[in-house]
Amino acid sequence: MKAILVEQHGGPERLALKDVPVPQPGRGEVLVKIASIGVNYIDTYHRSGLYPAEPPFTPGMEAAGTIESLGPGVEGFTLGDRVAYGMSRGAYAEFAAVPAWQVVKLPDSVDFRTAAAAMLQGMTAHYLTHSTFPLEPGHTCLVHAAAGGTGLLIVQMAKLRGARVIGTAGTLEKARRAREAGADEVIVYTEQDFVAEVKRITDGRGVDVVYDSVGAATWEGSLNSLRPRGMMVTFGNASGPVPEFRPLLLSQKGSLFLTRPTLFHYCTNREELLTRAEAVLGWIESGDLKIRIHRVYPLSEAAQAHRDLEGRQTSGKLLLEP
Ligand code: NDP
Repeated sequence: MKAILVEQHGGPERLALKDVPVPQPGRGEVLVKIASIGVNYIDTYHRSGLYPAEPPFTPGMEAAGTIESLGPGVEGFTLGDRVAYGMSRGAYAEFAAVPAWQVVKLPDSVDFRTAAAAMLQGMTAHYLTHSTFPLEPGHTCLVHAAAGGTGLLIVQMAKLRGARVIGTAGTLEKARRAREAGADEVIVYTEQDFVAEVKRITDGRGVDVVYDSVGAATWEGSLNSLRPRGMMVTFGNASGPVPEFRPLLLSQKGSLFLTRPTLFHYCTNREELLTRAEAVLGWIESGDLKIRIHRVYPLSEAAQAHRDLEGRQTSGKLLLEP
């Protein structure tokens, strides 16, 4: 089969299309014939070596397709089932062997592209808004990169929870998209001082929670945007990882709470994963959650997809197709 292989950590040019054997599903795994592949920022961290991934490996955590075969001990799936998943590496390929407990059956009305776009970022937006800091009416949240793949979903879910949403975005065009998704206010943080804007919008109080996926560039400003005892949720590194700091800083900024969550710790078993995935797929079916697909690339153009994502050129989801 065709698959992208990273044989050495580095830039997008390390994503090479190769012929490799079709994987065999082991105990508890299913083999998925992939129709559509979700591109996520984490794929760039595996490629660069920021997150551990031992070469040679096939990147990609997320895909949708059909069940091709079952490994020993798998129950509850039949050949041909339409499925999707978002937590197993090896998706930039024609086939992938995936732990069955992570695989979700798709409703008939959800197509493969939508499913491949919704699993990882959808479950992430779900745990951030429902579990890490459960938003309620009366809360105000700050969502950085609000027009990004994950950002657009956080904005929509925060509105479903009844919160007030302040987004940030790099361009006016992205700001428009974040507003379309439901953000009450959007700050173009490449042109405006977002801390001053947040203070103005909240009458000097600050927000209850910041969902920060940008990392290094926004870290300090995010802390300065919080109300006393607010929560800083730093969950990504799009501009680089947050620098080291002393816990005393949290006291000086207002006895703040800080967490650095990751999806894997919020989908620790099948029940938890299904709760999140079914909520996301249910909102897609009902029309409450809109999935914006930025562009679909052939698998052979994975490097271009990474360049576009890392170059801040995208708004919404990037997909690859074998
Ligand atoms: P996005 O679609 O959000 O793309 C990244 C966006 O970040 C860019 O479009 C850009 O938006 C913004 N950005 C700000 N500064 C930079 C910079 N210096 N370089 C590149 N981008 C920058 O990507 P994803 O939705 O895939 O992921 C967003 C973040 O969320 C990533 O950091 C990812 O690791 C994290 N994440 C974490 C998870 C977790 O469980 N911890 C799970 C899923 C995602 P703009 O131009 O508007 O500033």
